[in-house]
Amino acid sequence: LLSKVTDKELLRTGGLIGGKWTQATNRATFHVHNPATGKVIATMPKMRADETLTAIAAAHAVFPTWANTTAKERGAILMRWYQEILNASDDIAAIMTAECGKPLAESKAEIAAGAASVEWFAAECRRVTGDVLETVDRSRRMLTLKQPVGVVAAITPWNFPMSMITRKVAPAIAAGCTVVLKPAEATPLTALALAELADRAGVPDGVLNVVLGDAPSIGHAMMSSETVRKIGFTGSTAVGKMLAEQAAKTVKRVSLELGGNAPFIVFDDADLELAAAGVVGSALRNSGQTCICANRVFVQDQVYDKFAELVAARVAALRVGDGAAADTTHGPLISPAGVEKVVAHVGDALAKGAKLLVGGAVPQLPEPLAGGNFYSPTVLAEATIDMRCFREETFGPLIPLFRFKEDDEAVLMANDTEYGLAAYFYTRDLRRAWTIAEQLEYGMIGLNEVAIGSEVAPFGGVKQSGLGREQGRHGLDEFLEVKYLCMGLN
Ligand code: ADP
Repeated sequence: LLSKVTDKELLRTGGLIGGKWTQATNRATFHVHNPATGKVIATMPKMRADETLTAIAAAHAVFPTWANTTAKERGAILMRWYQEILNASDDIAAIMTAECGKPLAESKAEIAAGAASVEWFAAECRRVTGDVLETVDRSRRMLTLKQPVGVVAAITPWNFPMSMITRKVAPAIAAGCTVVLKPAEATPLTALALAELADRAGVPDGVLNVVLGDAPSIGHAMMSSETVRKIGFTGSTAVGKMLAEQAAKTVKRVSLELGGNAPFIVFDDADLELAAAGVVGSALRNSGQTCICANRVFVQDQVYDKFAELVAARVAALRVGDGAAADTTHGPLISPAGVEKVVAHVGDALAKGAKLLVGGAVPQLPEPLAGGNFYSPTVLAEATIDMRCFREETFGPLIPLFRFKEDDEAVLMANDTEYGLAAYFYTRDLRRAWTIAEQLEYGMIGLNEVAIGSEVAPFGGVKQSGLGREQGRHGLDEFLEVKYLCMGLN
């Protein structure tokens, strides 16, 4: 796949520090694999705290100049980055599919979404405004200004190698911040291609730095730095909590987008075809490896059998294989560990009385595909709350169907988790639409819709799914401090 990349300059294999492509000081390296075949596709520098501190210093050095540019200037550079990304989208799609496995069509969709964030923040930064407050006495005037928070650390996961970066880096740069980014070790190539394009777009040296390698060492250097004023993280709840703890020592601003365990409720008055298409699209997107994938599907008793049949038929028609092949609908999981978790959840559910409707196995695939990274999209009926797939995010291609009778019961089960990222429900009843949306303890709700993500809408969770919001105008505020100015007129 990488041989199909026409613009070879996009295939960077170094970190980017102060505008220079850089190797690790001790020459250490790590490998990047294609999860479809298991083959090594690139070798990257394994950087640690040292290189991270250099990158932070580079971001710090350029911060005053960058913060002092106008929003118009920053917006113009971001618009050029947006154009560069669009022009390179076939190449980026090949890179993304090669390192994370998702089918090319899904890579293209992610690139469009990521580019849309860049475009949106390029425009939105023009609308950052302070206030002139109504004074309480004639001798004082009171105002607020908004200013960039400073140097930002961004740590991103492998499941969306581009869009988790753009939703942090674009608003940070738009706000006048400078950034040190650490992409996931599994998917650095997409991140480096984006950095190359940012450089071509005119993002000044040091405004966007990329370090790669030893995550705990890099993360610790970022979190203990007094210079870094904010961390934007997307990833597992365990790592997010640890970073928040580390960030507390220097009182950084923290934005966390962590795990989910999304409920998907199908009420008896729902459009069942629409709901079946929705649940298959949501639960199996990126082979189940997104934090907003439907994880637990609650179906009302009267429509349960019919709905199960519709979902099973759709899932049986899917094609698992190499994401680079045109007829593949679902690619590999990122690693054998990802597959093991699905195997464990399915085994646990079957042992506790679930019924297998479709899938439930590691598919037989021709060479050179890496058998150990694939799992067939699976539907289980008669799932119950004592099963692991109720408590834990599977992060794989599993659709467990739970049964409920009363509306309250569905809400109780849906909220019975420490997570609170996305929730979905299908109904045509207005009263249900309103009351259920209010009762679900989640940061994002899809009502008769699963395509909830958008550059204009706040993305984020409640409870242990995270802190703060990305995207939309709330996503820009995360990178701005409010400064209060009181002027005495005496
Ligand atoms: P996932 O299960 O998606 O891999 P992780 O939380 O492990 O979730 O990874 C998300 C990001 O966090 C990746 O960039 C990873 O390298 C990074 N990461 C993992 N462990 C640490 C750590 N101890 N400190 C800082 N970053 C980390």
